[in-house]
Amino acid sequence: MEKTRAIVATAPGENHTPGSNWELEEISVPTTLKDGEILVEVSATGICHTDLLITSYPKEAPGMAYPRVAGHEGSGHIKALGPNLTKTHLKVGDPVLLSFDSCTKCDYCAENRAAYCETFMAMNLFGTPEVFSSGDGNTKIAGKYFGQSSFANLTVCTEASVLSAEGIAKNQEELNLFAPLGCGLQTGAGAVLNVARPEKDDIVMVLGLGGVGLSALMAAAVLGCKKIIAVDRVNSRLELAKTLGATHTFDTTGVEDLTKALKEVAGGRGPTCVIETTGAPPVIEAGYGCVANEGSFCLVGATQDPNYALHIGTNAHLIRGVRLLGCVEGNSVPDEFIPQLVAYYRKGQFPIDKISKFYKAEEFKTALHDMHTGATVKPIITW
Ligand SMILES: [Zn+2]
Ligand SMILES: [Zn+2]
Repeated sequence: MEKTRAIVATAPGENHTPGSNWELEEISVPTTLKDGEILVEVSATGICHTDLLITSYPKEAPGMAYPRVAGHEGSGHIKALGPNLTKTHLKVGDPVLLSFDSCTKCDYCAENRAAYCETFMAMNLFGTPEVFSSGDGNTKIAGKYFGQSSFANLTVCTEASVLSAEGIAKNQEELNLFAPLGCGLQTGAGAVLNVARPEKDDIVMVLGLGGVGLSALMAAAVLGCKKIIAVDRVNSRLELAKTLGATHTFDTTGVEDLTKALKEVAGGRGPTCVIETTGAPPVIEAGYGCVANEGSFCLVGATQDPNYALHIGTNAHLIRGVRLLGCVEGNSVPDEFIPQLVAYYRKGQFPIDKISKFYKAEEFKTALHDMHTGATVKPIITW
């Protein structure tokens, strides 16, 4: 066992506000590793809305365990290797980026489509109970969330989540900046580059300008789409979107008929490719409703209510010929896609530094506050 600092989430109480149950604590990390485990000294961790969503689930929800350590956008260095690893190229001291976990055995994993692993939800969202223990040793703490639980300075990862950053990050500063590539940024960029795949003539509309939405927008700019419309209700984000390739922006504040307004801003027939990242039901409905005939609508943002359903009139849907899409992690194969995104970053086409801000671990509450107000798009905690 070794002591480390970690942000620990306890079970949410009544009238819970996301993140209010997070505290920075000293905990114990096991240093005797099991098969396929890697001990990583984390240097930076991006905060993603999924961290807030998953630590807001009641403790009675199936698969949930509290207290737990969230964090699924980590980067750092390998401190120790467990037995029987299949990624035999990894060495102690290697810089690494952390991404999502997968079983490596099901048909989807075998076909290199791990984002659709049959056990994706359980392995990533719920993780493993009893990985860490509290500083006094009396309470077990759940870990391996997304195979990493990287809201800890030292953490136990599953090897499927660990990718070498050798040759990807040039220095420590870049390694910290690249931490969110393994989730939010690859999700947004992948939704465009791997899933919806708009062409130059397309009118792309991005709903919601968080880390996922702005990554989608930057990816549409990489493809040179003729019209890229950024939609949000936070003015500073709309302004930022203009510097990242948005040709048009639209503020939804106070708009009554959102479907009509979104069609109009796209030029009457509506956008031909909509990337939905808000997870907000009224925006999802307007986004689906505004798509031009034969256009595509891609669901990326998860809804707060897991039982929410979008009702689609089947006749109306087929008459419009709309392609309805959804994706997990932007269909990314992180080993291949992250280096591609870094190459765009180096060419100035994927300027993730413009959407990120660093906070020390002890300032995580400020980071959450700035994320909530919209002042910071992608907070990255440094350990
Ligand atoms: Zn699998
Ligand atoms: Zn995420």
